[in-house]
Amino acid sequence: MTAKKSGRAPAKAPPKKPIHLKSKDKASKIEKPGKAKAAPAAAVKPMPKPIPAPAAKAAAPKPAPLPAAKPAPFAPAAKAKKTNGAVRVGVVGCAGRMGQMLLKILINAAGIVVVGGTERRGSPALGQDLGALAGAEPLGISVSDDPSLLFDSADVVVDFTNPIATVSHAQMAAKTGCALVIGTTGFDSDQLSALYRLAQRAPVVLAANMSLGVNLLQQVVEEVARILDPDWDIEIIEMHHKQKVDAPSGTALALGEAAARGRGQSLRRIAKRARDGQVGPRIKGEIGFAVLRGGDVVGDHTVIFAAEGERVEIIHRASSREIFARGALKAVLWAAGKKPGLYSMRDVLGFSVQGPQGSTGPAPPNGPTPAS
Ligand code: NAD
Repeated sequence: MTAKKSGRAPAKAPPKKPIHLKSKDKASKIEKPGKAKAAPAAAVKPMPKPIPAPAAKAAAPKPAPLPAAKPAPFAPAAKAKKTNGAVRVGVVGCAGRMGQMLLKILINAAGIVVVGGTERRGSPALGQDLGALAGAEPLGISVSDDPSLLFDSADVVVDFTNPIATVSHAQMAAKTGCALVIGTTGFDSDQLSALYRLAQRAPVVLAANMSLGVNLLQQVVEEVARILDPDWDIEIIEMHHKQKVDAPSGTALALGEAAARGRGQSLRRIAKRARDGQVGPRIKGEIGFAVLRGGDVVGDHTVIFAAEGERVEIIHRASSREIFARGALKAVLWAAGKKPGLYSMRDVLGFSVQGPQGSTGPAPPNGPTPAS
């Protein structure tokens, strides 16, 4: 189970109490982490020796003042701390809508210690305190633009960014053996192939939608599609907030895949992703998509099965991003210490395994979703 090369430890039972990093230890803030030293086989990641707290001001004669140190872009506080078996988690894209929500959930979660967060170069969030970013107590860890340090010090990194950034993060996961939980959507087939390949060297959970409800919906849609004959037309409607950049949503595509699977088909062959102009009558057997954008809608999905004289509609509405962050937390705790491979939310939630979700790309070579 353990990715022995990286010396990562299997997930341990989470302690009862959440562990918060409230260190004001200046030394630990400005020290950059060195590379992990050679780890004993299957041991917990090596921890640097704790750095003694600076002496109280009045206690001793003042040492000569140090040259002004530049504030470190990344304060790997957790590397210098004992984590008591808690899973060390980093968040890339930590200032995004999902990143901030995730931080809030992770900071308060039992069995988790947040060890860092990154943002894209030039982000106004760089240098901000992670806790403050999540509207919580300061953690003494600032937002960095260097993910390599994070992958070096975390057991699991969570990624809700964009496809290009995610593939580069997956490369770092493959290099370090750090587990990666990917919520990003909108991958093209080349990017998906890259993720499948890289997941052979690190545990990767890929899920276009991390909510329990949507994963349940996928099961239901697959089953309904299996039961109803092909005279029933399948259409999928989704609506999201006006800032969303990919369409149809990864969730809509995952629902389409579930429906196609239920019919024993490949979505890529039967998907009708847009209709405009003189498109002619509907082609029997296709699965159609319609996309709406506006306001602050977190995510609505409707799968319609339409026949002559009747219609079945299955709907999921997300009213808070918290459901995705809670799913991501489950995935983090589940992924820590897993063997390399590509996993889905179904693996995490214990549903039957059919393959990764949100994939519109090629089928994983030799089924990279390992038995879990
Ligand atoms: P967002 O734009 O608010 O956040 C993305 C963040 O990533 C931004 O802060 C951006 O600066 C940052 N970023 C970009 N490049 C980066 C890099 N190289 N390194 C570090 N950070 C970088 O978007 P969002 O609404 O939070 O959604 C992010 C992604 O997650 C989208 O693909 C969205 O579709 C997906 N999403 C998935 C789920 C799910 O359950 N799987 C739920 C909601 C959103």
